[in-house]
Amino acid sequence: MLIIAAHPDDEVIGMGGTVVKVASKGFKVYAVIVSDGTEGTAELIPESELATIRRDEALRAHEILGINTTYFLGIEDMSVQVNKANMKLLIQKIRSVRPLAIFTHHMGDLHWDHLATASLARDATMVSASSFFKDLGEPWRTSYFFVFDSLRVPLASPTHLIAIDTTLDAKLNALNQYKSQIKAIATFIPIVEGLSTYRGSLIGVGAAEAFQRIDLFPAMDLDFL
Ligand SMILES: [Zn+2]
Repeated sequence: MLIIAAHPDDEVIGMGGTVVKVASKGFKVYAVIVSDGTEGTAELIPESELATIRRDEALRAHEILGINTTYFLGIEDMSVQVNKANMKLLIQKIRSVRPLAIFTHHMGDLHWDHLATASLARDATMVSASSFFKDLGEPWRTSYFFVFDSLRVPLASPTHLIAIDTTLDAKLNALNQYKSQIKAIATFIPIVEGLSTYRGSLIGVGAAEAFQRIDLFPAMDLDFL
């Protein structure tokens, strides 16, 4: 599967517990981090240095989660644009990874980098399946497209709740690798725990992550026929 996240840490917050579960079942997990995350701290660190720090932190977090390969697009933080150049970058990744499932932010999110990433991911998934942009690789149709939960604007109608009782500790451990934003992370952790507990209570477990499946390609029949 392929996760497309705007900033380093969004992938952990959104679905870290599920990633550990999926990876432990032997599936390969890939991540694309769209922006360089240089606005993610209040500390005064030069942007070039901070980009390297956040990249290293992401790799440490991803090792804990079991993500096989991480691609950094390096787009400037707070500046993710929905344009052809960025869509082409994602089409190239989708066609080279050839994922069964893609996961990204949901369209009700408030952060514009998250919204731009969600929009790019959705369009790139659809265009990847077409014969457009032949120079970017063989067409690839991704079977499943999911959006993950958000701390500030939780998904209104999740279609999937995945129990993460056994992997919540690994998720929090991965989140703690983002040491350059430890102050922000410290405020996130109770929210991550609270949301996980709430999601879990909906299915009678201690902790869960929520997703909404979106059908990007029209079904060829009614499921019950
Ligand atoms: Zn973010």
